[in-house]
Amino acid sequence: MSKISRNTLCPCGSGKKYKKCCLSKDQAKYSNQKEKSLNSQQKDEIASDIHNFTKEHGGDKERMLKSPDFMDYMNKFKLLIDNSSNEEMNKMTTSYSGFYEFGKFLEEFAMAIKNGAFDDLLEKK
Ligand SMILES: [Zn+2]
Repeated sequence: MSKISRNTLCPCGSGKKYKKCCLSKDQAKYSNQKEKSLNSQQKDEIASDIHNFTKEHGGDKERMLKSPDFMDYMNKFKLLIDNSSNEEMNKMTTSYSGFYEFGKFLEEFAMAIKNGAFDDLLEKK
């Protein structure tokens, strides 16, 4: 893709110069993409981190939930889901059993919250 010059007419067809029209919108879009996209090595590292977290807690759901790092790992997991194709997710769940277990746990957790099972625990915090 060739770079659009700031002083040429905007490609959106508004008749305004690019810098007065869609430039800022495009810049915001690209910086957003840059922030969001993770390379495969970064994805692998996050999956591995989550795997280790699960294993360190012996896969014990209650212990994981009580860990001060739980929210952090939950957010990392979400980040991976948002940035990975199904194929990549399959690969990570196959490579890291702890990653798979963590995902399963989050599913159950989300369901349990819906059903009010954690109301007591969440109120205490
Ligand atoms: Zn425009």
